Amino acid sequence: MSESNNDTEEREREKFYEDRIGSSGFKITKPRDIIIKVLSRSSKLMTADDIYLEVKKEDPAVGVATVYRTVELLTRLKIVCRRILGSGRSYYMLSRECARETFIYMICDNCKKIITNNKCLNSAVKVRLRENAEESILKNCNLKIDNYQILFTGLCDECRKSMKKQKKSSR
Ligand SMILES: [Zn+2]
Repeated sequence: MSESNNDTEEREREKFYEDRIGSSGFKITKPRDIIIKVLSRSSKLMTADDIYLEVKKEDPAVGVATVYRTVELLTRLKIVCRRILGSGRSYYMLSRECARETFIYMICDNCKKIITNNKCLNSAVKVRLRENAEESILKNCNLKIDNYQILFTGLCDECRKSMKKQKKSSR
Protein backbone atom coordinates (compact mmCIF):
# COMPACT_ATOMS: atom_id res chain seq x y z
CA MET A 1 0.00 0.00 0.00
CA SER A 2 2.65 2.48 1.04
CA GLU A 3 4.76 1.39 -1.89
CA SER A 4 2.18 2.34 -4.46
CA ASN A 5 1.87 5.71 -2.72
CA ASN A 6 5.59 6.16 -3.08
CA ASP A 7 5.36 5.27 -6.74
CA THR A 8 2.72 7.91 -7.34
CA GLU A 9 4.75 10.46 -5.42
CA GLU A 10 7.82 9.57 -7.43
CA ARG A 11 6.02 9.95 -10.73
CA GLU A 12 4.54 13.27 -9.66
CA ARG A 13 7.98 14.49 -8.69
CA GLU A 14 9.48 13.36 -11.97
CA LYS A 15 6.71 15.06 -13.88
CA PHE A 16 7.25 18.30 -11.96
CA TYR A 17 10.91 18.40 -12.99
CA GLU A 18 10.26 17.31 -16.55
CA ASP A 19 7.78 20.16 -16.87
CA ARG A 20 10.44 22.52 -15.62
CA ILE A 21 12.86 21.39 -18.29
CA GLY A 22 10.17 21.96 -20.87
CA SER A 23 9.25 25.40 -19.58
CA SER A 24 12.92 26.42 -19.64
CA GLY A 25 12.86 25.81 -23.36
CA PHE A 26 14.84 22.57 -23.32
CA LYS A 27 13.86 19.19 -24.62
CA ILE A 28 13.53 16.22 -22.36
CA THR A 29 16.28 13.98 -23.67
CA LYS A 30 16.79 10.47 -22.46
CA PRO A 31 19.83 11.30 -20.29
CA ARG A 32 18.00 14.26 -18.72
CA ASP A 33 15.03 12.06 -18.00
CA ILE A 34 17.13 9.25 -16.52
CA ILE A 35 19.13 11.62 -14.30
CA ILE A 36 15.97 13.12 -12.86
CA LYS A 37 14.62 9.62 -12.19
CA VAL A 38 17.87 8.55 -10.56
CA LEU A 39 17.93 11.62 -8.29
CA SER A 40 14.26 11.31 -7.52
CA ARG A 41 14.65 7.70 -6.40
CA SER A 42 17.82 8.16 -4.45
CA SER A 43 17.59 8.34 -0.71
CA LYS A 44 21.17 9.50 -0.39
CA LEU A 45 23.14 12.42 -1.71
CA MET A 46 24.89 11.71 -4.97
CA THR A 47 28.11 12.88 -6.53
CA ALA A 48 28.27 13.19 -10.32
CA ASP A 49 30.07 9.84 -10.35
CA ASP A 50 27.34 8.19 -8.27
CA ILE A 51 24.79 9.52 -10.73
CA TYR A 52 26.79 8.18 -13.65
CA LEU A 53 26.92 4.69 -12.12
CA GLU A 54 23.14 4.62 -11.67
CA VAL A 55 22.47 6.06 -15.14
CA LYS A 56 24.68 3.36 -16.66
CA LYS A 57 22.42 0.71 -15.14
CA GLU A 58 19.42 2.26 -16.87
CA ASP A 59 21.13 2.94 -20.17
CA PRO A 60 24.72 1.79 -20.76
CA ALA A 61 24.91 3.97 -23.89
CA VAL A 62 25.00 7.20 -21.86
CA GLY A 63 28.60 8.28 -21.38
CA VAL A 64 30.20 9.93 -18.39
CA ALA A 65 30.74 13.22 -20.26
CA THR A 66 27.03 13.40 -21.08
CA VAL A 67 26.15 12.82 -17.45
CA TYR A 68 28.49 15.58 -16.28
CA ARG A 69 27.21 17.97 -18.93
CA THR A 70 23.59 17.18 -18.14
CA VAL A 71 24.09 17.63 -14.41
CA GLU A 72 25.67 21.03 -15.15
CA LEU A 73 22.73 22.02 -17.33
CA LEU A 74 20.16 20.87 -14.78
CA THR A 75 22.03 22.82 -12.10
CA ARG A 76 21.95 25.93 -14.28
CA LEU A 77 18.22 25.48 -14.81
CA LYS A 78 17.85 25.20 -11.02
CA ILE A 79 16.28 21.79 -11.37
CA VAL A 80 19.21 20.24 -9.60
CA CYS A 81 21.24 21.99 -6.95
CA ARG A 82 24.78 21.48 -5.86
CA ARG A 83 25.85 21.19 -2.26
CA ILE A 84 29.45 21.29 -1.24
CA LEU A 85 29.67 19.43 2.01
CA GLY A 86 32.22 19.35 4.80
CA SER A 87 34.22 16.81 2.87
CA GLY A 88 34.69 19.35 0.07
CA ARG A 89 32.96 17.18 -2.50
CA SER A 90 30.01 18.30 -4.60
CA TYR A 91 26.72 16.52 -4.17
CA TYR A 92 23.62 16.89 -6.22
CA MET A 93 19.97 16.69 -5.38
CA LEU A 94 16.69 17.84 -6.81
CA SER A 95 16.08 21.49 -6.06
CA ARG A 96 12.94 21.05 -3.96
CA GLU A 97 15.00 19.20 -1.39
CA CYS A 98 17.66 21.86 -1.55
CA ALA A 99 15.16 24.54 -0.66
CA ARG A 100 14.98 23.41 2.94
CA GLU A 101 16.17 26.17 5.20
CA THR A 102 18.99 24.43 6.97
CA PHE A 103 20.83 21.48 5.75
CA ILE A 104 21.47 19.00 8.52
CA TYR A 105 23.64 15.99 7.92
CA MET A 106 26.16 13.63 9.40
CA ILE A 107 29.34 12.20 7.96
CA CYS A 108 30.50 8.88 9.40
CA ASP A 109 34.16 9.17 10.40
CA ASN A 110 34.76 5.54 9.54
CA CYS A 111 33.05 4.82 6.20
CA LYS A 112 32.53 8.49 5.16
CA LYS A 113 28.87 7.78 4.50
CA ILE A 114 26.68 10.87 4.49
CA ILE A 115 23.39 10.67 6.32
CA THR A 116 20.86 13.27 5.40
CA ASN A 117 17.10 13.78 5.27
CA ASN A 118 17.09 12.04 8.59
CA LYS A 119 14.09 12.85 10.76
CA CYS A 120 15.92 11.99 13.94
CA LEU A 121 18.87 14.29 13.17
CA ASN A 122 16.55 17.04 12.01
CA SER A 123 14.42 16.93 15.12
CA ALA A 124 17.50 17.12 17.35
CA VAL A 125 18.43 20.54 16.05
CA LYS A 126 16.93 23.90 16.64
CA VAL A 127 19.22 26.67 15.54
CA ARG A 128 18.28 30.12 14.46
CA LEU A 129 20.48 32.75 12.99
CA ARG A 130 20.35 36.14 14.62
CA GLU A 131 18.10 38.64 12.99
CA ASN A 132 19.60 40.03 9.81
CA ALA A 133 22.54 37.66 10.21
CA GLU A 134 23.18 37.50 6.49
CA GLU A 135 23.26 41.29 6.15
CA SER A 136 25.55 41.79 9.10
CA ILE A 137 27.89 39.03 7.92
CA LEU A 138 28.06 40.71 4.58
CA LYS A 139 28.65 44.12 6.14
CA ASN A 140 31.14 43.09 8.81
CA CYS A 141 32.93 40.14 7.24
CA ASN A 142 32.45 40.74 3.53
CA LEU A 143 31.06 37.24 3.16
CA LYS A 144 27.95 36.59 1.15
CA ILE A 145 25.95 33.82 2.76
CA ASP A 146 23.52 31.75 0.72
CA ASN A 147 22.79 29.05 3.15
CA TYR A 148 24.13 27.31 6.18
CA GLN A 149 24.65 23.71 7.14
CA ILE A 150 24.88 21.75 10.31
CA LEU A 151 27.34 18.92 10.21
CA PHE A 152 27.55 16.10 12.70
CA THR A 153 30.39 13.64 12.66
CA GLY A 154 30.67 10.31 14.42
CA LEU A 155 29.88 6.71 13.65
CA CYS A 156 26.97 5.51 11.56
CA ASP A 157 24.77 2.67 12.73
CA GLU A 158 26.54 0.01 10.66
CA CYS A 159 30.05 1.04 11.67
CA ARG A 160 29.04 1.24 15.31
CA LYS A 161 27.59 -2.27 15.15
CA SER A 162 30.57 -3.77 13.35
CA MET A 163 32.95 -2.17 15.84
CA LYS A 164 30.98 -3.60 18.73
CA LYS A 165 31.24 -7.05 17.14
CA GLN A 166 34.98 -6.66 16.63
CA LYS A 167 35.43 -5.75 20.25
CA LYS A 168 33.48 -8.79 21.38
CA SER A 169 35.34 -11.23 19.14
CA SER A 170 38.75 -9.91 20.16
CA ARG A 171 38.10 -10.74 23.78
ZN1 LIG B 1 30.00 4.26 8.83
